[in-house]
Amino acid sequence: MMKKECSIVQDVLPLYLENMVSEDTTVFVREHLEICSDCAVAFERLKSGRQIEVAETPQRKHDAEVITAVKKKIAKIFLKAVAAVCLVFVVLLCAVLLYTGISYPVTKDNISLSTKKDGEYSYIILETEAGKSLYFEAKTEDILNDQKEVCGQRIVLFNVRYHKSFTKKTSYMSWGRALNDENPYMEVVVELENGTMQISNQE
Ligand SMILES: [Zn+2]
Repeated sequence: MMKKECSIVQDVLPLYLENMVSEDTTVFVREHLEICSDCAVAFERLKSGRQIEVAETPQRKHDAEVITAVKKKIAKIFLKAVAAVCLVFVVLLCAVLLYTGISYPVTKDNISLSTKKDGEYSYIILETEAGKSLYFEAKTEDILNDQKEVCGQRIVLFNVRYHKSFTKKTSYMSWGRALNDENPYMEVVVELENGTMQISNQE
C-alpha cells in the first residue's frame, strides 16, 4: 500500500515542485512527505538537483568572464610594459645619438702633442682630452731638402673634430719611426680652426 503511494508521489514530485499539480494532489503529496522519509529524501534530492542545475550555469559563465577579463588585463599590462620598454629604449638611443653623434671643432685646448724616445724608436704622441674621441683625415707627405731629396715625413691631420664619448679616459695616438732609419725625421701637423699645431721628433 505504502509502496504504491510512494510510486505515485515520486511520479508527481517534479510537477509538485513546480506547483503544477491540483490542490488535492498538493495536500496528498505534502502529507505523504511528512510521514515517508524515502519520498522526503527523494524530494530533497530533486530540489537540490534543480538548485545546482540553476546555479551552475551562471557560475560557470561568471568564471569564464573573470578568466577572460584577467587575460585581457594581463595582455594590457604586457603591452604597456612592452611599450614602456620601447619608449625607454628610443629615448636612450636618442640621448646616446645626441650625446655622441654631434661633432665639435677641435681647439688647441682639446689636444696635446708630445714626443717620446723608446730605445731605437722615436714617437710623436697625440693626446686627446678625456671624454672626447677624435676624428680626422690624414695625409703623409715627404719632406724634401734643398737638393729635392727626401729627408723625412710629415703627417698632416685635417678636418679634425671630436665627438663626446662615454669613456672618461684620455685617448692616445702615436706615430713611431726607427732612429736608424735613413730618414728618421718626422713631423706631425694638426690643422685646427683656430690655428695649427706642429711638432717634430727632433725637438
Ligand atoms: Zn513514500
